[in-house]
Amino acid sequence: MTARPSRAFAVPRDLLDKYNIAGPRYTSYPTAPEWQEGWGDAEGIAILDENNAARADVPLSLYVHIPFCHKLCFFCGCNMLVTQKQDLVSNYLDALDLEIARVARRVDVERRPVVQIHWGGGTPTFLSPAQIERVFTALTGRFKLLPDAEVSLELHPAVTSDEQLVTLRRLGFNRVSMGIQDFDPAVQQAVNRPQPYELTRDLIARCRELGFQSVNTDLMYGLPLQTEAKFADTLDKVLGIRPDRIALFNYAHVPWLKKHMEAIKESDLPQPEEKLRIFERAIATLLDAGYRYIGMDHFALPEDELARAQAGRSLRRNFMGYTTCADSDLYAFGASSIADLDRAYLQNERNVTAYIAAMGTRELATIRGMRLSDDDRLRRDVINDLFCNLYVDKAAIAARHGVDFDRYFAKELASLAPLAADGLVVLAPDHLQVTPPGQILLRNVAMAFDAYLDKRPPGERKFSKTI
Ligand code: SF4
Repeated sequence: MTARPSRAFAVPRDLLDKYNIAGPRYTSYPTAPEWQEGWGDAEGIAILDENNAARADVPLSLYVHIPFCHKLCFFCGCNMLVTQKQDLVSNYLDALDLEIARVARRVDVERRPVVQIHWGGGTPTFLSPAQIERVFTALTGRFKLLPDAEVSLELHPAVTSDEQLVTLRRLGFNRVSMGIQDFDPAVQQAVNRPQPYELTRDLIARCRELGFQSVNTDLMYGLPLQTEAKFADTLDKVLGIRPDRIALFNYAHVPWLKKHMEAIKESDLPQPEEKLRIFERAIATLLDAGYRYIGMDHFALPEDELARAQAGRSLRRNFMGYTTCADSDLYAFGASSIADLDRAYLQNERNVTAYIAAMGTRELATIRGMRLSDDDRLRRDVINDLFCNLYVDKAAIAARHGVDFDRYFAKELASLAPLAADGLVVLAPDHLQVTPPGQILLRNVAMAFDAYLDKRPPGERKFSKTI
């Protein structure tokens, strides 16, 4: 009997213990623990001005963080604040206005159009329709949005009204992304996020009726009380809805970093073997249903541009996730938001009150960041190629960075030899290719190129496990 192609996406069980180690997710490189604390206006302003001078014709992506939520989901890893205080929200929106205006003043907006806007949170649909319009107008009044820009936001089905959807569509939002995580009521109860299937299904239907081009959903595996069989039911329901893209995130249980995760009973969490079975079955189910497996944990319908970009090896990734937008610098607004620039990262005050105070007394709200060396940029490029395209073209990297790939990365290539022997990556003379099981363990492959990992104190718990 011929094995189904999706069966290739299985990690041999003898490798489970060997590779289930703590490691970064590489939403940035260098990763956030390497960034310098104690930054302020001087660093923030200098970096924005340098970026604008050096990248005068490079377009922009804009991220806005709306940190507020009505209720706490116990698995949440985001920077958010549960509140009902409308005066706090109003002060936050005033601070956002100031930040948008001050950053825009430092940008040559005529030469740097906006190709992508994304609002994340928290819960962007915590805002009323009038508040949504206010923030959107603040952005479009200062920056030049291209007519075909991707304009998206994350919404929470349980707190999104029809009036909000109509407003978003009228303003020009053309993509929505919504959390589902799991439709099983017991799992939902264990993570404090009740969200009936019918509610989500009807909301997605309404989004399509209103003309949103793309509807994406987030699922999560590794949650308390999840089993392979129960998660299969969730997947069946999701496939009935057929979102354009599905993100299937690995729940990172890090109560030492996120105290509210202590509300989840560790004994309810699936063990690594079960977790891996849930993930592998999900991959098989989604591939059999016609989705393409993108990067480490995303799936897209074949006609979706993410799938086409991965096939053409032109997929990119920034703090907002996978993107097909051309090279751009990501500017970010709001508490905890991170600007992801060609040569630097900048992060704002994480605490909402501190962010509001910073915008009242300072020019910007920068508190930390990092300037990237040439070596950082080279390694970031390699790690991005691995995460986006599962393929590293040595000659292309050499041409972009002026290095001899094999000589520069001799130590890294040697450290990948055992992973190649385990079938996770192919080390060819002119390229590296991640294999199907290696795609599940992408973090392990990428770690070979991380120059900082060995320098971190032994036993430090900064990252979650890779499985
Ligand atoms: S709605 Fe989203 S941001 Fe808010 S607590 Fe739940 S997971 Fe976190």
